Amino acid sequence: MQQVYFPARVVRGAGAINQLGAIASALGKRALVLGGKHALEAASALIDAQLAAAGVSKCADIWYGGECSETQILRLAQDVRTHAADVIIAVGGGKALDTGKAVGLETARPVITLPTIAATCAAVTPLTIRYDDDGHFRDLYHLPVAPAAVIIDSDILAKAPLRWLAAGLGDTLAKWYELRAISGNKDVTGFGASSMANSQLCYQQIARFGAASCEAVRQQQATPALDQVLDAIFLFAGLTSLMSNGAHAAAAHALYEGFTVCDKTRAYGHGLLVGFGNLCLLAQEGRSDAELLEAIALAKACAIPTSLAAIAPTLTPEEQAAILNAAVTAPDMGNMPHIVTRETLRDDIHRVERLAISAC
Ligand SMILES: [Zn+2]
Repeated sequence: MQQVYFPARVVRGAGAINQLGAIASALGKRALVLGGKHALEAASALIDAQLAAAGVSKCADIWYGGECSETQILRLAQDVRTHAADVIIAVGGGKALDTGKAVGLETARPVITLPTIAATCAAVTPLTIRYDDDGHFRDLYHLPVAPAAVIIDSDILAKAPLRWLAAGLGDTLAKWYELRAISGNKDVTGFGASSMANSQLCYQQIARFGAASCEAVRQQQATPALDQVLDAIFLFAGLTSLMSNGAHAAAAHALYEGFTVCDKTRAYGHGLLVGFGNLCLLAQEGRSDAELLEAIALAKACAIPTSLAAIAPTLTPEEQAAILNAAVTAPDMGNMPHIVTRETLRDDIHRVERLAISAC
């Protein structure tokens, strides 16, 4: 059996937040807003105006707690019950939105997601990545419900720091690079074919509009190019995951997992590290210099790092070895069509770095 949970409604574009009042009032009368500290500061005036105009009471603005952990989910669920809220508005980045979606499931309330950075497709997916309270990865918590509404406002997202958009671009490019590496020449049908087609669309949109979307964010201006890229990061990446009927992460995410063992690289940003991992994956596949140079040029245009030194300038040989060891033994590496060793992965990194310098 296959089943898939889609968000009921997705609004995307400049000023999309102006739909919030009408959407919230159709779902409930008392809204609890939870999110990241910066996100609440940035968006609460807009949210308040929308809710007031639509006659929805706001029960509270509550910080999600900084970690998407079971402790925080249960604490916030209690807040929802105490305030007798009947709709949840989750605002912020991936962890805040993931927390909000889990709180919605815990309390059986509909959730509206309002991303304030474009670093992941968490706003759309029926999935919460849970961590322990100390920040260590715990599990992928699959939710039997997707958000009731997703509001992707490009005016808000144009004003977020560029590194978050770059992270979203790196993670979204991985959808295509990794799925292509896993699928090879396999005959994919049905859901798998939809997932593949959406991942290819992720690549095409970013190849075409990635550089211009970064410029839009540098200028803090919503533009049509930024909208095209936001569709890739949220919708086509979301559909790649939603419609996937098998593994869809490989060497790029495995290298990311390797980076998480080292203090100097762990906090660099998931999508940015995956973005560098994409290039190493292409090298691992034995792709030509011309193809790699094209991917490196795209990464540079999207503000994605193209060398280890750009990620952490002072990595010791021991730290590099620890990263490589963890990467080749990460579960996602097992999805590559051949065995990846520490030595070949190190050679791949060097090849990417050499080509990136030669392309300057
Ligand atoms: Zn990712």
